[in-house]
Amino acid sequence: MTTEKFDLDYAPALESTAVVNIAKQYGLFVNGEFVKARGDKTFATINPATEAHLANVAEASKADVNKAVKAARHAYETYWRDMPGKQRARYLYRIARQLQERAREFAVLETLDGGKPITESRDFDLPQAAAHFFYHAGWADKLDYAFPGRKVTSHGVVGQITPWNFPMMMAAWKLAPALATGNTVVFKPAETTPLTALLLAEVLQDVDLPPGVVNIVTGAGATGQALVDHPDVDKLAFTGSTGVGKMIQRAAAARRLPLTLELGGKAAHIVFDDAAIDQAVEGVVKGIFFNQGHVCCAGSRLLVQESIAEMFIEKLKRRVDLLRVGNPLDKNTDVGAINSAAQLGRIADLVKVGVSEGAEIYQPKCSLNKKGFWFAPTIFTGVQQSHRIAQEEIFGPVLSVQTFRTADEAVQKANNTPFGLSAGVWTEKGSKILWMADLLNAGVVWANTYNQFDPASPFGGYKESGFGREGGMQGLSAYVRTDTGGRS
Ligand code: NAP
Ligand code: MG
Repeated sequence: MTTEKFDLDYAPALESTAVVNIAKQYGLFVNGEFVKARGDKTFATINPATEAHLANVAEASKADVNKAVKAARHAYETYWRDMPGKQRARYLYRIARQLQERAREFAVLETLDGGKPITESRDFDLPQAAAHFFYHAGWADKLDYAFPGRKVTSHGVVGQITPWNFPMMMAAWKLAPALATGNTVVFKPAETTPLTALLLAEVLQDVDLPPGVVNIVTGAGATGQALVDHPDVDKLAFTGSTGVGKMIQRAAAARRLPLTLELGGKAAHIVFDDAAIDQAVEGVVKGIFFNQGHVCCAGSRLLVQESIAEMFIEKLKRRVDLLRVGNPLDKNTDVGAINSAAQLGRIADLVKVGVSEGAEIYQPKCSLNKKGFWFAPTIFTGVQQSHRIAQEEIFGPVLSVQTFRTADEAVQKANNTPFGLSAGVWTEKGSKILWMADLLNAGVVWANTYNQFDPASPFGGYKESGFGREGGMQGLSAYVRTDTGGRS
Protein backbone atom coordinates (compact mmCIF):
# COMPACT_ATOMS: atom_id res chain seq x y z
CA MET A 1 0.00 0.00 0.00
CA THR A 2 1.40 3.37 -0.92
CA THR A 3 0.85 6.36 1.31
CA GLU A 4 0.16 9.37 -0.81
CA LYS A 5 0.92 12.83 0.47
CA PHE A 6 -1.71 15.36 -0.39
CA ASP A 7 -0.87 18.97 -0.85
CA LEU A 8 -3.86 20.63 0.75
CA ASP A 9 -2.75 24.16 0.04
CA TYR A 10 -5.16 26.31 -1.91
CA ALA A 11 -4.64 26.81 -5.63
CA PRO A 12 -4.43 30.52 -6.50
CA ALA A 13 -7.81 32.03 -7.35
CA LEU A 14 -6.92 35.42 -8.75
CA GLU A 15 -9.60 37.91 -9.66
CA SER A 16 -8.97 39.29 -13.13
CA THR A 17 -8.08 42.96 -13.42
CA ALA A 18 -9.22 43.08 -17.07
CA VAL A 19 -12.51 44.62 -15.99
CA VAL A 20 -10.74 47.77 -14.81
CA ASN A 21 -9.49 50.53 -17.06
CA ILE A 22 -7.13 52.80 -15.17
CA ALA A 23 -6.27 56.06 -16.94
CA LYS A 24 -2.73 57.43 -16.81
CA GLN A 25 -3.96 60.69 -15.40
CA TYR A 26 -7.11 61.87 -13.60
CA GLY A 27 -8.47 65.39 -13.28
CA LEU A 28 -10.62 66.93 -10.58
CA PHE A 29 -14.37 66.48 -10.97
CA VAL A 30 -15.77 69.99 -10.91
CA ASN A 31 -19.09 71.20 -12.30
CA GLY A 32 -19.74 67.84 -13.97
CA GLU A 33 -16.43 67.71 -15.84
CA PHE A 34 -12.93 66.41 -15.30
CA VAL A 35 -10.56 69.38 -15.18
CA LYS A 36 -6.85 69.87 -14.55
CA ALA A 37 -5.65 71.23 -11.25
CA ARG A 38 -4.11 74.69 -11.22
CA GLY A 39 -0.53 74.44 -12.51
CA ASP A 40 -1.36 70.88 -13.62
CA LYS A 41 -0.18 69.60 -10.25
CA THR A 42 -0.57 65.86 -9.68
CA PHE A 43 0.36 63.15 -7.23
CA ALA A 44 0.75 59.40 -7.72
CA THR A 45 -1.40 56.65 -6.32
CA ILE A 46 0.09 53.17 -6.04
CA ASN A 47 -0.99 49.61 -5.36
CA PRO A 48 0.18 49.00 -1.78
CA ALA A 49 0.44 45.23 -2.39
CA THR A 50 3.06 45.64 -5.12
CA GLU A 51 4.13 49.31 -4.95
CA ALA A 52 3.25 49.48 -8.67
CA HIS A 53 2.32 52.93 -9.91
CA LEU A 54 -1.36 53.06 -10.86
CA ALA A 55 -2.06 56.63 -11.98
CA ASN A 56 -1.36 60.29 -11.50
CA VAL A 57 -4.17 62.22 -9.90
CA ALA A 58 -4.78 65.97 -9.89
CA GLU A 59 -3.87 67.75 -6.67
CA ALA A 60 -6.41 70.45 -5.89
CA SER A 61 -5.07 73.78 -4.67
CA LYS A 62 -6.99 76.37 -2.67
CA ALA A 63 -8.07 77.98 -5.95
CA ASP A 64 -9.36 74.63 -7.27
CA VAL A 65 -11.31 74.01 -4.08
CA ASN A 66 -12.76 77.49 -4.47
CA LYS A 67 -13.95 76.64 -7.99
CA ALA A 68 -15.54 73.45 -6.70
CA VAL A 69 -17.36 75.28 -3.90
CA LYS A 70 -18.59 77.90 -6.40
CA ALA A 71 -19.91 75.14 -8.68
CA ALA A 72 -21.66 73.51 -5.72
CA ARG A 73 -23.19 76.84 -4.64
CA HIS A 74 -24.47 77.54 -8.14
CA ALA A 75 -25.96 74.04 -8.47
CA TYR A 76 -27.59 74.39 -5.07
CA GLU A 77 -29.22 77.73 -5.76
CA THR A 78 -30.26 77.16 -9.35
CA TYR A 79 -31.78 73.70 -9.25
CA TRP A 80 -30.87 71.16 -6.57
CA ARG A 81 -32.27 72.92 -3.49
CA ASP A 82 -35.74 73.31 -4.99
CA MET A 83 -35.91 70.07 -6.93
CA PRO A 84 -38.80 67.91 -5.64
CA GLY A 85 -37.56 65.07 -3.42
CA LYS A 86 -38.92 62.37 -5.67
CA GLN A 87 -36.85 63.72 -8.55
CA ARG A 88 -33.71 63.76 -6.42
CA ALA A 89 -34.53 60.19 -5.42
CA ARG A 90 -34.40 59.11 -9.07
CA TYR A 91 -30.77 60.15 -9.30
CA LEU A 92 -29.92 58.26 -6.12
CA TYR A 93 -31.66 55.12 -7.36
CA ARG A 94 -29.77 55.38 -10.64
CA ILE A 95 -26.44 55.72 -8.82
CA ALA A 96 -27.28 52.70 -6.62
CA ARG A 97 -28.18 50.57 -9.63
CA GLN A 98 -25.01 51.61 -11.48
CA LEU A 99 -22.94 50.62 -8.46
CA GLN A 100 -24.57 47.20 -8.53
CA GLU A 101 -24.10 46.81 -12.26
CA ARG A 102 -20.46 47.86 -12.13
CA ALA A 103 -19.75 46.29 -8.73
CA ARG A 104 -16.95 44.02 -9.96
CA GLU A 105 -15.11 46.87 -11.63
CA PHE A 106 -15.40 49.01 -8.48
CA ALA A 107 -14.35 46.11 -6.23
CA VAL A 108 -11.23 45.30 -8.25
CA LEU A 109 -10.23 48.97 -8.40
CA GLU A 110 -10.80 49.35 -4.64
CA THR A 111 -8.55 46.37 -3.99
CA LEU A 112 -5.85 47.57 -6.41
CA ASP A 113 -5.71 51.08 -5.00
CA GLY A 114 -6.09 50.26 -1.30
CA GLY A 115 -4.82 46.70 -0.70
CA LYS A 116 -7.90 45.13 0.88
CA PRO A 117 -8.85 41.52 -0.01
CA ILE A 118 -11.09 41.27 -3.07
CA THR A 119 -13.59 39.16 -1.14
CA GLU A 120 -14.11 42.11 1.19
CA SER A 121 -14.42 44.80 -1.47
CA ARG A 122 -16.71 42.48 -3.47
CA ASP A 123 -18.88 41.19 -0.63
CA PHE A 124 -18.84 44.08 1.83
CA ASP A 125 -17.71 47.50 0.57
CA LEU A 126 -19.61 47.60 -2.72
CA PRO A 127 -22.89 46.06 -1.52
CA GLN A 128 -22.80 48.46 1.45
CA ALA A 129 -22.18 51.45 -0.82
CA ALA A 130 -25.10 50.54 -3.10
CA ALA A 131 -27.34 49.87 -0.07
CA HIS A 132 -26.66 53.35 1.29
CA PHE A 133 -27.76 54.98 -1.97
CA PHE A 134 -30.88 52.80 -2.13
CA TYR A 135 -31.75 53.53 1.49
CA HIS A 136 -31.38 57.30 1.16
CA ALA A 137 -33.15 57.37 -2.19
CA GLY A 138 -36.14 56.06 -0.24
CA TRP A 139 -36.00 59.00 2.17
CA ALA A 140 -35.58 61.79 -0.42
CA ASP A 141 -39.33 62.33 -0.96
CA LYS A 142 -40.36 61.47 2.61
CA LEU A 143 -38.45 64.03 4.66
CA ASP A 144 -41.69 65.50 6.00
CA TYR A 145 -42.47 62.08 7.48
CA ALA A 146 -38.97 61.67 8.85
CA PHE A 147 -39.29 64.96 10.75
CA PRO A 148 -43.02 65.36 11.33
CA GLY A 149 -44.32 68.80 12.26
CA ARG A 150 -41.11 70.48 11.22
CA LYS A 151 -40.09 72.51 8.23
CA VAL A 152 -37.13 70.71 6.71
CA THR A 153 -34.49 72.55 4.72
CA SER A 154 -31.05 71.57 3.52
CA HIS A 155 -27.85 73.23 4.73
CA GLY A 156 -26.50 74.25 1.32
CA VAL A 157 -22.94 73.36 0.29
CA VAL A 158 -21.47 70.51 2.33
CA GLY A 159 -17.73 69.82 2.58
CA GLN A 160 -16.94 66.13 3.13
CA ILE A 161 -13.59 64.47 3.83
CA THR A 162 -12.99 60.71 4.09
CA PRO A 163 -10.14 58.31 4.95
CA TRP A 164 -8.61 55.43 3.00
CA ASN A 165 -9.89 52.38 4.80
CA PHE A 166 -13.32 52.07 3.12
CA PRO A 167 -13.10 54.57 0.25
CA MET A 168 -16.30 53.72 -1.64
CA MET A 169 -18.34 52.87 1.39
CA MET A 170 -17.33 56.13 3.06
CA ALA A 171 -18.17 58.04 -0.12
CA ALA A 172 -21.65 56.50 -0.08
CA TRP A 173 -22.14 57.17 3.65
CA LYS A 174 -21.32 60.82 3.00
CA LEU A 175 -22.87 61.55 -0.40
CA ALA A 176 -26.16 59.63 -0.18
CA PRO A 177 -27.70 61.43 2.85
CA ALA A 178 -26.39 64.83 1.69
CA LEU A 179 -27.97 64.49 -1.75
CA ALA A 180 -31.21 62.94 -0.49
CA THR A 181 -31.78 65.97 1.70
CA GLY A 182 -31.07 68.52 -1.05
CA ASN A 183 -27.51 69.60 -0.29
CA THR A 184 -24.74 69.91 -2.85
CA VAL A 185 -21.28 68.57 -2.08
CA VAL A 186 -17.56 69.12 -2.40
CA PHE A 187 -15.99 65.79 -1.53
CA LYS A 188 -12.33 65.00 -0.78
CA PRO A 189 -11.26 61.34 -0.80
CA ALA A 190 -8.03 60.18 0.84
CA GLU A 191 -4.72 60.68 -0.94
CA THR A 192 -3.78 56.97 -1.12
CA THR A 193 -7.16 55.75 -2.42
CA PRO A 194 -8.69 58.32 -4.80
CA LEU A 195 -9.49 56.04 -7.76
CA THR A 196 -12.91 54.62 -6.88
CA ALA A 197 -14.22 58.11 -6.08
CA LEU A 198 -13.10 59.16 -9.57
CA LEU A 199 -14.84 56.13 -11.09
CA LEU A 200 -17.91 57.19 -9.13
CA ALA A 201 -17.60 60.57 -10.84
CA GLU A 202 -18.00 58.74 -14.18
CA VAL A 203 -21.15 57.12 -12.82
CA LEU A 204 -22.46 60.54 -11.79
CA GLN A 205 -21.94 61.71 -15.38
CA ASP A 206 -23.64 58.57 -16.73
CA VAL A 207 -26.74 59.10 -14.60
CA ASP A 208 -26.89 62.76 -15.72
CA LEU A 209 -26.58 64.17 -12.23
CA PRO A 210 -26.78 67.93 -12.80
CA PRO A 211 -23.30 69.54 -12.96
CA GLY A 212 -21.95 70.89 -9.69
CA VAL A 213 -24.21 68.83 -7.41
CA VAL A 214 -21.20 66.65 -6.52
CA ASN A 215 -17.64 67.89 -6.97
CA ILE A 216 -14.64 65.72 -6.17
CA VAL A 217 -11.36 67.37 -5.25
CA THR A 218 -8.45 64.99 -4.90
CA GLY A 219 -5.33 65.89 -2.97
CA ALA A 220 -3.57 65.56 0.37
CA GLY A 221 -4.17 67.15 3.76
CA ALA A 222 -3.75 70.70 2.39
CA THR A 223 -6.66 70.16 -0.01
CA GLY A 224 -8.82 68.99 2.90
CA GLN A 225 -7.71 72.01 4.91
CA ALA A 226 -8.69 74.36 2.06
CA LEU A 227 -12.16 72.82 2.06
CA VAL A 228 -12.49 73.12 5.84
CA ASP A 229 -11.39 76.77 5.72
CA HIS A 230 -13.56 77.80 2.78
CA PRO A 231 -15.95 80.53 3.96
CA ASP A 232 -18.81 79.47 1.67
CA VAL A 233 -19.20 75.93 3.01
CA ASP A 234 -22.35 75.52 5.13
CA LYS A 235 -21.67 72.19 6.82
CA LEU A 236 -18.70 69.87 7.32
CA ALA A 237 -18.60 66.10 7.66
CA PHE A 238 -15.33 64.34 8.42
CA THR A 239 -14.20 60.76 8.94
CA GLY A 240 -10.60 60.21 9.90
CA SER A 241 -8.16 60.50 12.75
CA THR A 242 -8.95 62.13 16.07
CA GLY A 243 -6.06 64.58 15.64
CA VAL A 244 -7.33 66.05 12.37
CA GLY A 245 -10.91 65.85 13.69
CA LYS A 246 -10.06 68.08 16.65
CA MET A 247 -8.50 70.63 14.35
CA ILE A 248 -11.63 70.62 12.15
CA GLN A 249 -13.82 70.99 15.22
CA ARG A 250 -11.93 74.15 16.18
CA ALA A 251 -12.38 75.58 12.67
CA ALA A 252 -16.10 74.73 12.61
CA ALA A 253 -16.67 76.13 16.10
CA ALA A 254 -15.15 79.47 15.10
CA ARG A 255 -17.68 79.76 12.26
CA ARG A 256 -20.56 78.01 14.08
CA LEU A 257 -20.78 75.43 11.30
CA PRO A 258 -22.76 72.23 11.77
CA LEU A 259 -20.29 69.36 11.95
CA THR A 260 -20.23 65.58 12.20
CA LEU A 261 -17.03 63.80 13.19
CA GLU A 262 -16.44 60.06 12.87
CA LEU A 263 -13.04 59.45 14.41
CA GLY A 264 -10.92 56.67 15.85
CA GLY A 265 -11.71 53.84 18.22
CA LYS A 266 -10.25 51.21 20.56
CA ALA A 267 -13.14 48.82 20.86
CA ALA A 268 -13.34 46.16 23.55
CA HIS A 269 -14.47 42.74 22.49
CA ILE A 270 -15.70 41.11 25.73
CA VAL A 271 -15.98 37.32 26.00
CA PHE A 272 -17.68 35.75 29.04
CA ASP A 273 -17.12 32.17 30.15
CA ASP A 274 -20.68 31.20 29.14
CA ALA A 275 -20.18 32.32 25.49
CA ALA A 276 -20.30 29.97 22.51
CA ILE A 277 -16.51 29.68 22.41
CA ASP A 278 -15.85 28.70 18.80
CA GLN A 279 -18.20 31.35 17.45
CA ALA A 280 -16.59 33.92 19.75
CA VAL A 281 -13.10 32.99 18.48
CA GLU A 282 -14.36 33.48 14.93
CA GLY A 283 -15.98 36.80 15.88
CA VAL A 284 -12.84 38.10 17.58
CA VAL A 285 -10.71 37.14 14.54
CA LYS A 286 -13.10 38.88 12.13
CA GLY A 287 -13.39 41.81 14.53
CA ILE A 288 -9.69 42.66 14.40
CA PHE A 289 -8.28 41.19 11.17
CA PHE A 290 -11.05 42.33 8.81
CA ASN A 291 -9.54 44.90 6.42
CA GLN A 292 -6.10 44.41 8.08
CA GLY A 293 -7.49 46.07 11.20
CA HIS A 294 -7.83 49.37 9.31
CA VAL A 295 -11.27 49.74 10.84
CA CYS A 296 -12.29 52.49 13.23
CA CYS A 297 -14.62 50.09 15.07
CA ALA A 298 -12.15 47.15 14.99
CA GLY A 299 -12.32 44.96 18.10
CA SER A 300 -8.70 45.77 18.87
CA ARG A 301 -8.89 44.85 22.56
CA LEU A 302 -10.00 41.41 23.65
CA LEU A 303 -11.26 41.22 27.23
CA VAL A 304 -11.69 37.55 28.06
CA GLN A 305 -12.97 36.13 31.36
CA GLU A 306 -10.09 34.75 33.39
CA SER A 307 -11.63 31.27 33.86
CA ILE A 308 -11.50 30.56 30.11
CA ALA A 309 -8.61 32.82 29.13
CA GLU A 310 -5.92 30.19 28.64
CA MET A 311 -8.12 27.91 26.54
CA PHE A 312 -9.57 30.82 24.56
CA ILE A 313 -6.19 32.37 23.74
CA GLU A 314 -4.88 28.97 22.63
CA LYS A 315 -7.84 28.49 20.28
CA LEU A 316 -7.42 32.04 19.03
CA LYS A 317 -3.76 31.47 18.18
CA ARG A 318 -4.58 28.22 16.32
CA ARG A 319 -7.23 30.10 14.31
CA VAL A 320 -4.89 32.98 13.51
CA ASP A 321 -2.27 30.44 12.33
CA LEU A 322 -4.71 29.60 9.53
CA LEU A 323 -5.19 33.15 8.25
CA ARG A 324 -3.86 33.58 4.76
CA VAL A 325 -1.89 36.80 4.32
CA GLY A 326 -1.18 37.62 0.71
CA ASN A 327 -2.24 38.89 -2.68
CA PRO A 328 -5.40 40.95 -2.12
CA LEU A 329 -6.66 39.91 -5.57
CA ASP A 330 -6.62 36.24 -4.57
CA LYS A 331 -10.04 35.08 -3.39
CA ASN A 332 -8.36 32.85 -0.78
CA THR A 333 -6.72 35.80 0.96
CA ASP A 334 -7.92 36.72 4.46
CA VAL A 335 -5.49 39.54 5.23
CA GLY A 336 -4.32 41.87 2.48
CA ALA A 337 -1.74 44.66 2.26
CA ILE A 338 -1.29 47.52 4.69
CA ASN A 339 -2.59 50.64 2.97
CA SER A 340 0.62 52.67 2.86
CA ALA A 341 4.25 52.78 3.94
CA ALA A 342 3.32 55.49 6.45
CA GLN A 343 0.62 53.35 8.05
CA LEU A 344 2.95 50.35 8.14
CA GLY A 345 5.48 52.52 9.98
CA ARG A 346 2.86 53.60 12.54
CA ILE A 347 1.81 49.99 13.18
CA ALA A 348 5.40 48.75 13.48
CA ASP A 349 6.27 51.57 15.91
CA LEU A 350 3.37 50.82 18.24
CA VAL A 351 4.07 47.09 18.13
CA LYS A 352 7.66 47.82 19.20
CA VAL A 353 6.29 49.89 22.05
CA GLY A 354 4.06 46.93 23.06
CA VAL A 355 7.08 44.64 23.25
CA SER A 356 9.17 47.16 25.18
CA GLU A 357 6.33 47.74 27.67
CA GLY A 358 6.44 44.04 28.51
CA ALA A 359 3.50 42.51 26.65
CA GLU A 360 4.04 39.10 25.06
CA ILE A 361 3.82 39.04 21.27
CA TYR A 362 2.52 36.19 19.12
CA GLN A 363 2.69 36.17 15.31
CA PRO A 364 1.96 33.12 13.15
CA LYS A 365 4.59 31.99 10.70
CA CYS A 366 3.73 33.56 7.37
CA SER A 367 5.94 34.62 4.52
CA LEU A 368 5.38 38.24 3.67
CA ASN A 369 6.08 39.64 0.23
CA LYS A 370 9.24 41.75 -0.07
CA LYS A 371 7.53 44.29 -2.28
CA GLY A 372 4.52 46.10 -0.90
CA PHE A 373 3.46 46.83 2.68
CA TRP A 374 2.69 43.87 4.92
CA PHE A 375 2.25 43.12 8.58
CA ALA A 376 1.64 39.69 10.10
CA PRO A 377 -1.48 39.22 12.23
CA THR A 378 -0.35 39.94 15.78
CA ILE A 379 -1.68 39.04 19.22
CA PHE A 380 -0.37 40.64 22.41
CA THR A 381 -1.08 38.88 25.70
CA GLY A 382 -0.24 40.08 29.19
CA VAL A 383 -1.36 43.57 28.28
CA GLN A 384 -1.83 46.05 31.14
CA GLN A 385 -4.47 48.75 31.15
CA SER A 386 -1.78 51.45 31.13
CA HIS A 387 0.10 50.04 28.12
CA ARG A 388 -0.05 52.23 25.05
CA ILE A 389 -1.25 49.24 23.00
CA ALA A 390 -4.29 49.11 25.33
CA GLN A 391 -5.02 52.82 24.98
CA GLU A 392 -4.00 54.00 21.51
CA GLU A 393 -5.51 53.13 18.19
CA ILE A 394 -3.07 51.01 16.16
CA PHE A 395 -5.29 50.78 13.06
CA GLY A 396 -3.59 47.57 11.95
CA PRO A 397 -3.87 43.77 12.43
CA VAL A 398 -2.90 43.85 16.11
CA LEU A 399 -5.00 42.52 18.99
CA SER A 400 -4.29 43.38 22.65
CA VAL A 401 -5.59 40.75 25.08
CA GLN A 402 -6.51 41.40 28.70
CA THR A 403 -8.50 39.36 31.20
CA PHE A 404 -11.27 40.17 33.70
CA ARG A 405 -12.98 38.34 36.55
CA THR A 406 -16.35 40.10 36.95
CA ALA A 407 -18.71 41.87 34.59
CA ASP A 408 -18.11 45.12 36.51
CA GLU A 409 -14.39 44.84 35.88
CA ALA A 410 -15.05 44.18 32.17
CA VAL A 411 -17.15 47.36 31.91
CA GLN A 412 -14.53 49.43 33.72
CA LYS A 413 -11.71 48.19 31.53
CA ALA A 414 -13.76 48.51 28.35
CA ASN A 415 -14.60 52.13 29.12
CA ASN A 416 -11.09 53.04 30.19
CA THR A 417 -9.81 54.58 26.93
CA PRO A 418 -10.29 58.05 25.41
CA PHE A 419 -12.51 56.50 22.71
CA GLY A 420 -16.14 55.33 22.61
CA LEU A 421 -17.07 54.01 19.19
CA SER A 422 -18.01 50.34 19.47
CA ALA A 423 -17.91 47.21 21.62
CA GLY A 424 -18.75 43.52 21.36
CA VAL A 425 -20.21 41.21 24.02
CA TRP A 426 -20.24 37.42 23.87
CA THR A 427 -22.43 35.59 26.38
CA GLU A 428 -25.45 33.33 26.26
CA LYS A 429 -27.33 35.54 28.75
CA GLY A 430 -29.55 38.17 27.14
CA SER A 431 -29.88 40.00 30.46
CA LYS A 432 -26.10 40.35 30.71
CA ILE A 433 -25.97 41.74 27.17
CA LEU A 434 -28.58 44.40 27.94
CA TRP A 435 -26.91 45.29 31.25
CA MET A 436 -23.54 45.68 29.51
CA ALA A 437 -24.98 47.64 26.60
CA ASP A 438 -26.35 50.21 29.05
CA LEU A 439 -23.01 50.68 30.75
CA LEU A 440 -20.58 50.53 27.83
CA ASN A 441 -19.49 53.92 26.54
CA ALA A 442 -19.86 52.98 22.90
CA GLY A 443 -22.04 54.21 20.04
CA VAL A 444 -22.53 50.65 18.79
CA VAL A 445 -22.63 47.46 20.87
CA TRP A 446 -22.73 44.17 18.99
CA ALA A 447 -23.90 41.06 20.83
CA ASN A 448 -22.69 37.60 19.82
CA THR A 449 -21.59 39.04 16.50
CA TYR A 450 -19.31 41.83 15.30
CA ASN A 451 -18.95 44.36 12.45
CA GLN A 452 -22.55 44.17 11.30
CA PHE A 453 -23.75 47.19 9.33
CA ASP A 454 -27.01 48.34 7.84
CA PRO A 455 -27.85 51.73 6.32
CA ALA A 456 -30.92 51.96 8.56
CA SER A 457 -28.82 51.55 11.68
CA PRO A 458 -27.05 54.68 12.98
CA PHE A 459 -23.27 54.46 13.47
CA GLY A 460 -21.05 56.86 15.41
CA GLY A 461 -19.23 57.42 18.66
CA TYR A 462 -18.75 59.17 21.97
CA LYS A 463 -15.76 60.92 23.55
CA GLU A 464 -12.75 61.09 21.20
CA SER A 465 -14.51 58.88 18.66
CA GLY A 466 -16.47 61.94 17.59
CA PHE A 467 -20.13 62.92 17.44
CA GLY A 468 -23.06 62.72 15.09
CA ARG A 469 -24.37 59.55 13.50
CA GLU A 470 -24.29 58.13 9.97
CA GLY A 471 -27.13 55.94 8.77
CA GLY A 472 -30.73 55.78 9.88
CA MET A 473 -32.86 58.83 10.64
CA GLN A 474 -30.17 60.10 13.01
CA GLY A 475 -27.74 60.22 10.08
CA LEU A 476 -30.30 61.95 7.90
CA SER A 477 -30.93 64.63 10.53
CA ALA A 478 -27.27 65.74 10.33
CA TYR A 479 -27.93 66.99 6.79
CA VAL A 480 -31.07 69.05 7.42
CA ARG A 481 -32.12 72.10 9.33
CA THR A 482 -35.42 71.63 11.05
CA ASP A 483 -37.59 74.29 12.60
CA THR A 484 -41.02 73.99 14.06
CA GLY A 485 -42.39 76.95 12.09
CA GLY A 486 -43.56 78.64 15.29
CA ARG A 487 -45.21 75.49 16.66
CA SER A 488 -43.77 74.10 19.83
P1 NAP B 1 -6.54 61.41 8.61
O1 NAP B 1 -5.12 61.79 8.43
O2 NAP B 1 -7.33 62.12 9.62
O3 NAP B 1 -7.19 61.55 7.17
C1 NAP B 1 -8.56 61.53 6.92
C2 NAP B 1 -8.86 62.47 5.79
O4 NAP B 1 -8.56 63.81 6.19
C3 NAP B 1 -8.03 62.21 4.54
O5 NAP B 1 -8.79 62.51 3.39
C4 NAP B 1 -6.91 63.20 4.71
O6 NAP B 1 -6.22 63.52 3.55
C5 NAP B 1 -7.65 64.39 5.27
N1 NAP B 1 -6.81 65.35 5.99
C6 NAP B 1 -5.54 65.19 6.49
N2 NAP B 1 -5.12 66.33 7.07
C7 NAP B 1 -6.13 67.23 6.95
C8 NAP B 1 -6.31 68.60 7.34
N3 NAP B 1 -5.36 69.26 8.01
N4 NAP B 1 -7.47 69.21 7.03
C9 NAP B 1 -8.46 68.57 6.40
N5 NAP B 1 -8.35 67.28 5.97
C10 NAP B 1 -7.20 66.62 6.25
O7 NAP B 1 -6.74 59.90 8.94
P2 NAP B 1 -6.07 58.67 8.23
O8 NAP B 1 -4.79 58.39 8.90
O9 NAP B 1 -6.07 58.86 6.78
O10 NAP B 1 -7.18 57.55 8.58
C11 NAP B 1 -7.12 56.74 9.69
C12 NAP B 1 -7.94 57.30 10.85
O11 NAP B 1 -9.30 57.49 10.51
C13 NAP B 1 -7.95 56.34 12.01
O12 NAP B 1 -7.63 57.00 13.18
C14 NAP B 1 -9.39 55.83 12.05
O13 NAP B 1 -9.86 55.46 13.30
C15 NAP B 1 -10.15 56.94 11.51
N6 NAP B 1 -11.39 56.44 10.91
C16 NAP B 1 -12.57 56.62 11.58
C17 NAP B 1 -13.75 56.14 11.04
C18 NAP B 1 -15.08 56.32 11.73
O14 NAP B 1 -16.11 56.06 11.13
N7 NAP B 1 -15.13 56.74 12.96
C19 NAP B 1 -13.75 55.51 9.82
C20 NAP B 1 -12.54 55.34 9.17
C21 NAP B 1 -11.37 55.83 9.73
P3 NAP B 1 -4.96 62.60 3.14
O15 NAP B 1 -5.50 61.25 2.87
O16 NAP B 1 -4.45 63.20 1.93
O17 NAP B 1 -4.02 62.64 4.28
MG1 MG C 1 -3.37 53.74 -3.78
